[in-house]
Amino acid sequence: MEVTALPALGDNYIFMLCGDAPDRAAAVDPGDARPVLRWLEKSGRRLESILITHHHPDHTAGIPRLRELFPGTGVCGGAGDRGRIPGQARFLSEGDAVPVCGAAAGVLEVPGHTRGHIAYFFDDGRGGGDLFSGDTVFGGTIGNLFEGTPDDMFASLQKIRALPGATRIWCAHEYTLQFVREAARVDPDNERLGRRLAALEGAADRPTVPLALAEECATNPFFRWDAPGLCERLGTAPGIETFRRLCAVT
Ligand code: ZN
Ligand code: FE
Repeated sequence: MEVTALPALGDNYIFMLCGDAPDRAAAVDPGDARPVLRWLEKSGRRLESILITHHHPDHTAGIPRLRELFPGTGVCGGAGDRGRIPGQARFLSEGDAVPVCGAAAGVLEVPGHTRGHIAYFFDDGRGGGDLFSGDTVFGGTIGNLFEGTPDDMFASLQKIRALPGATRIWCAHEYTLQFVREAARVDPDNERLGRRLAALEGAADRPTVPLALAEECATNPFFRWDAPGLCERLGTAPGIETFRRLCAVT
């Protein structure tokens, strides 16, 4: 799967996916139709499907215009978002497989930011893959808990942490520098986090997606609910207690 990240709406990313078929593409979370249309025109591809992670307008507002111009386009989203995504035709649940441009995405239910939030995972079969996680995970942090609880988000992050080690995370906003800075305040003894922050500060303005799952596991406090140093600093037991405390203090 070839992925192109299109900057949109200030700090969003829309992702364009191309498989083996030379004439088709899919769009993930098109909050704005314009960058997608420009990309399609340049690449000479037609839009085959739209994958939506959750119902927020900065992820869905481009759908009506795209469906007007590509009426055959199928819109996929979570079953829990029924009635909240324009044009939705597929209502997906945990474990469903979605055909996308000759490949297949597996669906993970990842509630927390919203209750119907899903993620799409393309397993490369070689110890890695591409995860489109919307507003679940960002560099150094997680998405705001608008509709879910810390416990919901904890279960979602456990699924993501269990994905193959070389997974790339295509998150839907460029927030990395700001939140890795914040992470370094929460977990100041983490040397690898310190190195990550220094590297980011030396390369501000550069896109940081895709994130590497392995790097998030080593430096994002929300993936480190069982790291002894962090638990000790917070004074919490490894697991949900540490995760809840992280949600409360950041
Ligand atoms: Zn959102
Ligand atoms: Fe968003």
